[in-house]
Amino acid sequence: MQLSRAVLLLLSGFILSGLRAAVARLLPEPPNRIAVVGAGIGGTSAAYFLREKFGKDVHIDVFEKEEVGGRVATTEMMGNLYETGAYVIHPLNLHMKSFVKELGLTARTLPEDNFGIYNGDYLVFHESEWFLINILKKLWHYGLNFFRMNMWVDNVMDTFTRIYRYQASDYSFSTTEALLHAIGGSDVVGKLNMTIEEDMQKSGFSQRFIEDIGIPAMRYNYAQGVKINGFVGAVSLTGTSSGLWAVEGGNNQVCRGLLRAADAQLIQGTVTSVQDRPTKSGFTESQYEVTYATDKGTESKMYDIVVIATPLNKEIGNIDFTGFSPPIETVCRPFQRLVTTIVLGQINASFFGFQNTSPFPLSEIFTTDNHNIFFCSLTSLYSSNSSPEASDLRIWKIFSVETLTDEELHQLFVSYSDISVKRWLAYPQYNPPEKMPPIVLHRGIYYLNSIESAASAMEMSAISAKNVALLSYHQWYGKEEKINQLDLAERLKSEL
Ligand SMILES: Cc1cc2nc3c(=O)[nH]c(=O)nc-3n(C[C@H](O)[C@H](O)[C@H](O)COP(=O)(O)OP(=O)(O)OC[C@H]3O[C@@H](n4cnc5c(N)ncnc54)[C@H](O)[C@@H]3O)c2cc1C
Repeated sequence: MQLSRAVLLLLSGFILSGLRAAVARLLPEPPNRIAVVGAGIGGTSAAYFLREKFGKDVHIDVFEKEEVGGRVATTEMMGNLYETGAYVIHPLNLHMKSFVKELGLTARTLPEDNFGIYNGDYLVFHESEWFLINILKKLWHYGLNFFRMNMWVDNVMDTFTRIYRYQASDYSFSTTEALLHAIGGSDVVGKLNMTIEEDMQKSGFSQRFIEDIGIPAMRYNYAQGVKINGFVGAVSLTGTSSGLWAVEGGNNQVCRGLLRAADAQLIQGTVTSVQDRPTKSGFTESQYEVTYATDKGTESKMYDIVVIATPLNKEIGNIDFTGFSPPIETVCRPFQRLVTTIVLGQINASFFGFQNTSPFPLSEIFTTDNHNIFFCSLTSLYSSNSSPEASDLRIWKIFSVETLTDEELHQLFVSYSDISVKRWLAYPQYNPPEKMPPIVLHRGIYYLNSIESAASAMEMSAISAKNVALLSYHQWYGKEEKINQLDLAERLKSEL
């Protein structure tokens, strides 16, 4: 009896280990090498999430042709750092929030400044320093529109934050449309096919409010008016919320921190091509040869997975995809030019219709849609590690489509000195109905910046980075049940 039990145990041991070996043979090997092209917030967060998903053994290279951070950038002026690119983060941008926490950085809440709206001749609206007077002014000029906007934005954010629950439960999407549909069904996807103006009209905002407040918000955030798509327009209006924040010491510390946390290797070079190298070995059908140019010449490396984390625009991430059948078609959409000018200056109060006011009472001036206005916005800037100075001489940031001339600067400022200019190809020119580029360019090539065709923002890139990490993982291991699932909100309720 004792003997037969021992034999049985031995046999079951053999069977189990045999089964385990068979399962191991069936499961794909993990990828050896992953390339990420671009070290902006998209690429660096992709590296971070890829490491989280694929584990410690995979080798991750991140290619960057310029500075880590990309459009998240600072400039130094008089010993202080100022944000020249992406600045403002919404309190419900949960990936950015958790990066800051994980990386041990500090968030600083941005002060709520008094703003004015300039129409080319005068200020059509401006705030006072008294809270109660502001409420009365807003009611007087725009009825309940400001309150309607607060509720509308809260509603948008409430819907939007569903993505974090899906991602926390490991779900991913193979197209940007599927991701947006999971967030808010045809209501959200429909926003890509209408202008923000139409969306605001449909929601009952007055035309005066759209022109005086809607247009300036779009011009500040995207240097475009209210003809941009409703989704990016909604993202833009979330910038009117309170509790907006930035990272102490500069937002691009997040990118540098994520690279370190991902234990990824930064390769300073320009990726020029990605070539298909079909392979019949193992589970992969393709490997990809990434060719890049550095100071020392041209080199190539092989990868199992490639994440493109830069816009595939000829003027930005100009990458050739060669040897693919069918060929990889990259839609090159035009990008909006934007110039950031940072100056130390004393504002010309009379230009905005103020007489003898000192210090200048407003910290932000936004503009309506008038082709005679040569700037989109003028905002008082605080260094990434200091608080606002209430003096006449302040640091100002001007967004404009063209580089400002001396004459234009002299119109805005009584006097100015130290000046720093940064030219950007800032974000797509939005023009609904929008067509989203694919995320999956080939079996193992993912286009993170597809999401920018819906809306460009740091958090959008981080959401897309997490999606690409999950998607590539599930596609690699054949976990179809984690891709493009419908009714996730209902499903997650029942899984709880
Ligand atoms: C002036 C300005 C203000 C903004 N304000 C805000 C804001 O307040 N809040 C907000 O959330 N968003 C803001 N944005 C938008 C935000 O900056 C972007 O949506 C976000 O930073 C995009 O990040 P990304 O990593 O996807 O792309 P990028 O930051 O563009 O990163 C791509 C990187 O890839 C590199 N690269 C490109 N091609 C190659 C190649 N062939 N080989 C190697 N490297 C390559 C580039 O040099 C770049 O560093 C602003 C943008 C601008 C320009």
